[in-house]
Amino acid sequence: MRECTTVLRKKKEAERLRGEVKSAIEEARKLRAEGNLIKAAEKLKVALEKARNLRDVKAEVELELSKLGEELSKALSQGDALLAEGKYAEAIKAYESALPLAQALGREKEVKEKISLAERKAEEDKKRRELEKLLAEISGAVERKDYERVKELMDNVEPLAKELNAERKLEAIKAELKTRLENLTARAREEELSGNYSQALALYTEALSIAGVIGESGGEIRKAITTIEERQMEELLRKSVRIEVPSEMAHKAENEVSILVTNRFSGDISVSVDLSANRDYFELSEEKVEFPRVKPGKTIGEDVTVKPKFLGEFDFTVKVNSSAGSFEKRVPVKVVKTARAGATPTPTPVTSTPVINPVESLTELYSEMQYIGEGGFARVYKAKRKDGKVVAVKIPKTLDPAIGRAFVREISNWLHLKHSNIVELYDVNVIPIPYLEMEYCESSLAKLPKPLPLEEASLIVFNIAEGLKYAHSKKIVHRDLKPSNVLLKNGLPKISDWGLSKVLEESMSATTTASFTPFYAAPEQIDRKFGHTDERTDIWQLGVIFYELVTGRLPFEGSLSQVMMGIIRDDPVPPSEINPEAKKVEPIIMKMLAKRKEERYQSIEELQRDLAGVLNLTYSESLKKSKTMGDVRRAAYYLTELLLINMKTNNVGEAYKYATDLVLYARGELKDEVRKLAEQQKLKEKTNYESFKINGNEARKFSQRELKKLFEECLKSNGAIISLKTEEQEAIIFIPIREDLEWN
Ligand code: ATP
Repeated sequence: MRECTTVLRKKKEAERLRGEVKSAIEEARKLRAEGNLIKAAEKLKVALEKARNLRDVKAEVELELSKLGEELSKALSQGDALLAEGKYAEAIKAYESALPLAQALGREKEVKEKISLAERKAEEDKKRRELEKLLAEISGAVERKDYERVKELMDNVEPLAKELNAERKLEAIKAELKTRLENLTARAREEELSGNYSQALALYTEALSIAGVIGESGGEIRKAITTIEERQMEELLRKSVRIEVPSEMAHKAENEVSILVTNRFSGDISVSVDLSANRDYFELSEEKVEFPRVKPGKTIGEDVTVKPKFLGEFDFTVKVNSSAGSFEKRVPVKVVKTARAGATPTPTPVTSTPVINPVESLTELYSEMQYIGEGGFARVYKAKRKDGKVVAVKIPKTLDPAIGRAFVREISNWLHLKHSNIVELYDVNVIPIPYLEMEYCESSLAKLPKPLPLEEASLIVFNIAEGLKYAHSKKIVHRDLKPSNVLLKNGLPKISDWGLSKVLEESMSATTTASFTPFYAAPEQIDRKFGHTDERTDIWQLGVIFYELVTGRLPFEGSLSQVMMGIIRDDPVPPSEINPEAKKVEPIIMKMLAKRKEERYQSIEELQRDLAGVLNLTYSESLKKSKTMGDVRRAAYYLTELLLINMKTNNVGEAYKYATDLVLYARGELKDEVRKLAEQQKLKEKTNYESFKINGNEARKFSQRELKKLFEECLKSNGAIISLKTEEQEAIIFIPIREDLEWN
């Protein structure tokens, strides 16, 4: 009975439990349906405990639990998918949100493992990104050739690459750099062999920085760089130390060897020039010349007097030692009985081709050939052309075919220059021999006794400037102006030898018979520091001529090196200290002789304006004097000059004033015109002339430029009557040429 009761009680208990479990299952189902999975799981966990001995409901609880397990697995597999996609942060979030359910289901460990795996992967991914970023930065720095940065980045990247097993990527970059280094050294070697040291140096330096990056010593490259630097130093030294040794010296006579040092280095240098090796064959005023300290860009020089002891051919040896290196130079010298400077004026051509008598070879073309004189490079003859015109014929002393070619090439510009202040070149020919045929001029500035009266000198300079203005407008620069190149025809200066200095240079290297005159050279022709030659070089040279005309002296005198150093370094003695009369033009001359081109007159027009100021003043004073003294002829001369000066400087108002004044001096058939002029009103300044008649011919409209051209043409003829007309007024001008003043 007792047993029975116990069984009954147990049964009842089981029923109660079953009931509780079932309702728990029901509740859990409801909670699951509502999405409250955790609560559902907790309920089922309790129910499972209760259903421990109730097989049927236990299975039901387990079924329910397995459904929740499936939900968890679904949530976890979403996390797995995100992980696979590399979305680590999102995966971690997914795992973390599934964690409470997992805890409720007793699967906490599994989810925590997933979370830490995802965290590890996220960390690794971050590092990989960092590595990629660094590698990209390295590529950029390689591209920019910023090898210092490459090195720095490589050092940073190495441990990271090792950690991520990505060393291969680094190796690839190093291999690329190595190839680059090899290419650079190969190219550098080529440039070095071709003598392009600066390029070679740049390439080697780049190669050396790469060597540092890839861990190579670069010893060979370093050696190559040192060699080039030494060579460059030597080259710079050779450029800095110029030694001029005459190629021909007179036996037992005094000859000058010039030493000129221009420091082209960036720091001070000391230079010692040793000539003692020549003492067996030459008497030397000094065996060693020392320049203890030459500052950068500065020039210093000295001449050594050399007396050859024997006749014959010798090598003159110069040893240059300096703080910047050393070099040796040998110059072949021919010691002859007498110096070439005293050569007789009889034409004896120096030639490598069969000797031809130039005069004879031109008899077909010219008659009455008369020798006028010669310079360093050519002889000049007065000659009559077959048509009877008297011309000057210039024949180079060396009848070398190269000279002939240079002649045609360099002189072609001259053929296009047609101006009253430029010697007209009629013809240039190489057959039968190279020669120039040009306008005959009776004198040259070199032949004038100096100093000249200020007025005359200023007018000459003004007129040379007129020729230069024309050439410069055609972009032609002379670069070799000197008194012997300014010829005079009827007192009018005419510039000659356009382009000949270039031919001269070539003939110098070919034959060494000519000598270089430094007196008129501009600073920029001596030292590149002053820039390139241009129109302002002509202004300097004209300045030297002006100085010489008013003082009778040269602004820079002495030996070759003294002159050259003076030109680039010293201020000349002010002209007024030599000739007080020169005071009026001193500022003009000094401005023409400014060392820096930027401080000279920037154009011929600018120079002419200042010169016109001086000339207007002196001429109008002279005009006044002539008028009071009743010297009509002189008054007419000054009026003409004043008219021309103002015409040439575009000073229309003044030009008109002098033109009308000049009409008063007209005679004969001009009287009527003069009367007509008297009736006219005064012309305003800067009037635009609308039309004019020339020598009574038909009037038509002219521009200012045409007007000016016509004036110039009139100058070339024997004078012209010009009628200027504006809307209100008319004026008649008679322009004589200077040497034709018989009309009054
Ligand atoms: P270099 O040319 O060597 O500087 P330079 O100018 O004195 O010297 P050339 O130009 O050959 O030498 O002139 C030689 C001589 O001939 C000079 O007396 C010169 O006045 C004269 N002469 C040059 N050209 C003419 C010319 N067109 N008409 C008349 N004489 C001339």
